Amino acid sequence: MPELPEVERTRLSLAPLIGRTITTVTLRRADICDSFNALGTPHKSAPRDLLAGAKISSLTRKGKQLAIHASDGRTLCIQLGMSGTVRLLQPSTQDKGTQDSFPAHTHAVWFVDNYSQLLFIDPRRFGGLSTYPTESELHQHRWSTLGPDALTITAHDLAHACEHAHRPIKSLLLDQSALAGVGNIYADESLFRAHIHPAAHAGTLTKPQLNSLARAIRFILARAIKAGGSTLRNYADSTGTSGAAQLLHAVYGRAGKPCFACKRPLSGIRLAQRATVFCPACQPPPPKPRPQMKPA
Ligand SMILES: [Zn+2]
Repeated sequence: MPELPEVERTRLSLAPLIGRTITTVTLRRADICDSFNALGTPHKSAPRDLLAGAKISSLTRKGKQLAIHASDGRTLCIQLGMSGTVRLLQPSTQDKGTQDSFPAHTHAVWFVDNYSQLLFIDPRRFGGLSTYPTESELHQHRWSTLGPDALTITAHDLAHACEHAHRPIKSLLLDQSALAGVGNIYADESLFRAHIHPAAHAGTLTKPQLNSLARAIRFILARAIKAGGSTLRNYADSTGTSGAAQLLHAVYGRAGKPCFACKRPLSGIRLAQRATVFCPACQPPPPKPRPQMKPA
C-alpha cells in the first residue's frame, strides 16, 4: 500500500511535467473520477475537468494524496488507495508500435505536449481521481478533513491531536484526520524509534515523549523518501524506479526476530485491526490505570 514516502517520491518524479501542457485526456473508467464545481457539487467528468488544455504549474501533496495544479487554477487530486500508481512514460520508454496499448488497469491517460504520457493505474480501484475548479476547493472540500501533514509534524501539532484522545497512540497515528500520511509500517517504525509502546494511550503521553515521537515520524518518513519508498515489495515511482526503504525497517515484518537495539525478540500483536510489531524492552508497557477505590 503506497504510504506518504511513495506518494512524495511520485510527486518528485513528476517534476518534469511542470511548465508543460496536457494536450488530451482519456478517461477509460468514468467511475474512478469525481468532478466538483465551486460549490462542491459533483458533476460528470469532462476532459476539461481532468486538465485537458491546461499548463501544469505545480505539484503538491498532503498525507497520501497528490495534486496537480494548472496555471489557470484547475486542480486534479490523485488518491493512490491500496494499489494505485502513476507512471510517466517518456517517448524512450514507450514501446514502439504499441501507442494504444497500456498496462492492465490503466484508468486514465494524459498526453503531455503530444510527447509523453501520464498513466493512472489502479488494479484494486481503492484509489481514484477528483477534480476542482481551483486549489481552494480542494482544500475546502477534501484536504480540510485531513490532519497536519506527517512529514512536517511538530510536537505542538502532535500534542494537539493527542490531547483528550482516549485511544492507543498507534490507532491515532493511523487516523488520517488526526495526522495525514502515516500508515501501518511507519507508525510501528516511529513508535519504536521514540521508545513508545503502541498501546500507550495517546492522551497520557508526556511532553518529552511527544517531542521524541514527532521527531521520529519526521525522521522515518524523510529517510524512507530518500531511500525511494518501500511499502510494496515491487513499488516503483512514476519512472519505474524501485524503492529500497524496506531494508531500513527495524520492526515492521520482524515479529519474533531480535531487536536491533537490545537483541531481545520483538513482539507481534493485533492493534487497531493491524499487525503491530514492537520491542517489549525498548518500548515498555504504559503504566496500568490506577484501580478505582471501592466506596466504603
Ligand atoms: Zn529492544
